[in-house]
Amino acid sequence: MDELKDNVEHAIQQVEELLPAEAIERFRLILNSEDYLATLRSFSQPKPVVFRVNTLRSTIEEVLEEIESAGLVVSSIPWCPLGYKLESGTIRDLQALRCAKDGWIYIQAASSMAAAHAMQLKEGMSVLDMCAAPGSKTSQLAAALNNTGIMVANDRSKKRLYRLREILQWQNVINVEVLCGSGERLGKSHADCFDRVLVDVPCSGEGRFRLDRPIRIEKWNVQAIRRLAKLQEQLLIAALRCVKVGGKVVYSTCTFAPEENECVLDRVLTRHSIAAKVLPFPKELVPTSSRTSLTEWKGKKFVHDLSGAIRIVPDKNTTGFFVAVLEREH
Ligand code: SAM
Repeated sequence: MDELKDNVEHAIQQVEELLPAEAIERFRLILNSEDYLATLRSFSQPKPVVFRVNTLRSTIEEVLEEIESAGLVVSSIPWCPLGYKLESGTIRDLQALRCAKDGWIYIQAASSMAAAHAMQLKEGMSVLDMCAAPGSKTSQLAAALNNTGIMVANDRSKKRLYRLREILQWQNVINVEVLCGSGERLGKSHADCFDRVLVDVPCSGEGRFRLDRPIRIEKWNVQAIRRLAKLQEQLLIAALRCVKVGGKVVYSTCTFAPEENECVLDRVLTRHSIAAKVLPFPKELVPTSSRTSLTEWKGKKFVHDLSGAIRIVPDKNTTGFFVAVLEREH
């Protein structure tokens, strides 16, 4: 037991040495001590293999039958409809199955699925996915609409949109119109058009840091966080303009940085002319490792009630994320 504890402490110490000192200092401020350790551990642990059943191609029964007959063991994730975790077997075993090759399933982090579930779609709705590529959430949203309604998927990157188109075809999505350009411009060209808007913004990606793929860690710095926060603010304003009055916008990041999360929400709700409020996250969809949003950052209290937004801490089921559901009031 003592040996195990020593190993864990050694692993944490190693991660602390490999990350920028400023990032470590900030994580200690943002996370409580238990979550801090879980987060640092997640950067070096194998990622959980989680997938969702794609109901545009198959059913839960068909998928589970194939997986179980191949000798793999999965368990359902209670807060994540259609989401399953691989308990025994490897990602390669899973990818070798017909259900994976033919798009009956889609491998995706459960926290990322939570953002799409928070949209609470109903068939026939009009939906915009403002930063959509490579399309994990677009295909999930299209499946929730059962290929009905109107879906627009936009992204600034032409290259990433090639992958999105491939994914949509593979997943049997047929109701999506693809646009390439900055999301900010849609606030004018598509004002008051949609029942729901997802704005899954580009971010510093702290919730998905990996020591074995250090690209995000190498790019990390506070200046980049500040630069991203400005863009995120513009994207959220545009999203709130695109949604109809009474409609919902889901804002999500895969980072812990308050500047990219609560600070963006608070600034948009304070400074801009669109009235909106943060709604409580749908109870049945709250991930087990969720924490409530921060009420202040670096001594400055937020003006608005942001308590409905959730921070997802990495655990055995998923990676770090931040999700807020906003309702446009007028
Ligand atoms: N929602 C995607 C998914 O689930 O597959 C992931 C989106 S990723 C977090 C952020 C995306 O924002 C990137 O594809 C990037 O190209 C795009 N992006 C960056 N700046 C943008 C902008 N100004 N307008 C629209 N998209 C932008």
